Amino acid sequence: MRTLTFSPRLLAVALVCIQLAGTESSAQMSTQSTQPLLGGLSAGEVTEVIAESMGGPVMPYLRDPKVRRRALETARKQDLLEETEKALTPDKPIPVLPYSSFREFRRTGNRTNYENMLWDRDRQQASAAMACYLGVDRLQYLQDLIWADCESSWWQLPAHEGPVQGKDRPIDLCVAMKAAHLATVVTMLEDRIEPEVRDRVLREIDRRATDAFFDPDAEFWWKTCTNNWNAVCHGGVGIAALLVEKDPQRLAKLITQTLEGLPAFLSGFTDDGGCTEGPGYWRFGFGWYVDLACALYDFTGGRINIMTDPKVERICRYPLAVSIRPGQSLPFADTGQGFLPADLAIRINRFYKMPALYGLCRLTEDGSLAMGSLADLMLYDGTKHKPLAGHPDSFLPDLGIVRVRSGGVTVGAKAGHNAESHNHNDVGSFVIHRGKTFFLTDPGAPIYSARTFSRHRYESIFCNSFGHGVPVINGRLQPEGRQFAGTIQADGLDAPGAKTVRIEMAKAYNVPPLESLTRVIELAPAGRQVTLSDRFVFTRPPESLEEAFIAVLPAKAAEDGQSVIVRSESDGILRLRVEGTAGTFRVTELKEESKESRAGDLLRRITFRPAKLKPEMTFRFVVTFE
Ligand SMILES: [Zn+2]
Repeated sequence: MRTLTFSPRLLAVALVCIQLAGTESSAQMSTQSTQPLLGGLSAGEVTEVIAESMGGPVMPYLRDPKVRRRALETARKQDLLEETEKALTPDKPIPVLPYSSFREFRRTGNRTNYENMLWDRDRQQASAAMACYLGVDRLQYLQDLIWADCESSWWQLPAHEGPVQGKDRPIDLCVAMKAAHLATVVTMLEDRIEPEVRDRVLREIDRRATDAFFDPDAEFWWKTCTNNWNAVCHGGVGIAALLVEKDPQRLAKLITQTLEGLPAFLSGFTDDGGCTEGPGYWRFGFGWYVDLACALYDFTGGRINIMTDPKVERICRYPLAVSIRPGQSLPFADTGQGFLPADLAIRINRFYKMPALYGLCRLTEDGSLAMGSLADLMLYDGTKHKPLAGHPDSFLPDLGIVRVRSGGVTVGAKAGHNAESHNHNDVGSFVIHRGKTFFLTDPGAPIYSARTFSRHRYESIFCNSFGHGVPVINGRLQPEGRQFAGTIQADGLDAPGAKTVRIEMAKAYNVPPLESLTRVIELAPAGRQVTLSDRFVFTRPPESLEEAFIAVLPAKAAEDGQSVIVRSESDGILRLRVEGTAGTFRVTELKEESKESRAGDLLRRITFRPAKLKPEMTFRFVVTFE
């Protein structure tokens, strides 16, 4: 069964009645400069545009009867009503989010138990909102769920709570998203929702999001940060304010500060549009950026447009450069796998014609976009698409990631550096994928815990280089830090011959006798084989050296230790052997460490130790498929 989500994004217009105490009506703009903000307007011009736009539509489709008729038709074709009804549990008590569960993070570092309860309740709310939109009478249940949110002491996640450096952190990702979702629902159901419920929601949005946004004593590290928090927090609070804020000056002040803050988010992408946080965080962070862009564009009749920057266009193309097939992407950094949300592909295509993005969405058998959220349903016009297949090689030189493909085999490799956002110490990491299977891989993001974003992050093999397909030299892993970096080149891309990736990665290690380490990965025509050659040059022979390959499938070393096979149920067998070097392969199952796996995978670490260590060595590994 599909899981409905709110798309952080969407909905729209009709402003709901709320008179915001009027206390901020004389609020000063944070910037009176005539310097252009993101979108090209000065702060004064933004104030004028906002004032002239008040009462206009933020999401024009939200209460459009034609859109609803089309959505009903799509929902009928995709059995969405039945699925939504099946997912709902209105006869069960709505779970309270217990104090002790919220505090579990402080007690034990576990954050998933509380978060799972929260997400379950959010999914119920999304499904109930979908049911109401489609004409099923679940309003009472939906209002109960909304009321439960209003009653909750915290909208923040326990892992995001303040105080930080003595200051409260009133807005985190979840406060911002909750504000946007609730503002959307009460706007969408304006005629039907009980006034008492609507007024309570508006008070809670005001208190927890809008008022908090202007709190001079609070801590807002995300207002200038370069990662997903910037876009999600600005996006969520901004969309909520566009939907429900009645005071034009207060709204203009909030939007101005948002346009001041978002350039830092864009600066976190490399110049080629690459996202160091990985495709999962691109969908999340940039998704909210695009949602806000659409809301601002529609509200102001196109006068505030934050999609025009050429770098934004390159960022829009990023998933095309790192996808392997719909639902699967190169798993570098803290990424998870997933399809491109339909509403995000549709929204980007409002600004840039990139129909290939639809091919990364989940499609039904007849080529329709599979609906996963209310936003999808309202935006989708029924156009059919094909899954993206056989798209070309790609190279993001600034990000340091290459993807080459041949004969159903995809090789991805990265250089970059060891201080990226959601960093892993992974210079030289690579994956080999065939059919639908990652045979050799990078384990992606761990289950988050108190350790994940602490000084103990690199105790996790998901984040340190022990869990990546890179060498361990003199018993030392790659250190964390911007200076521990590599460079990457690619040759033969989009040509019929062999394709070659070359990574210089000695600087990723702090091992003084190591002078150079060059990794060359070659994908042969028709995907017949992949070779990986590592050439080491030391000033004196190393004390120890271990090559590593990571798999999440059953792997077995041959009895003579001269090769390893990795077996997939659906896509055959990968055989890994070494040419011209005496040494031994071993396979170790990382059972304890794999408890951090989000997918429940058992990680296998395949190692090769050479029999002799010399100042100059080249190991040539050959991968073939059977
Ligand atoms: Zn990794």
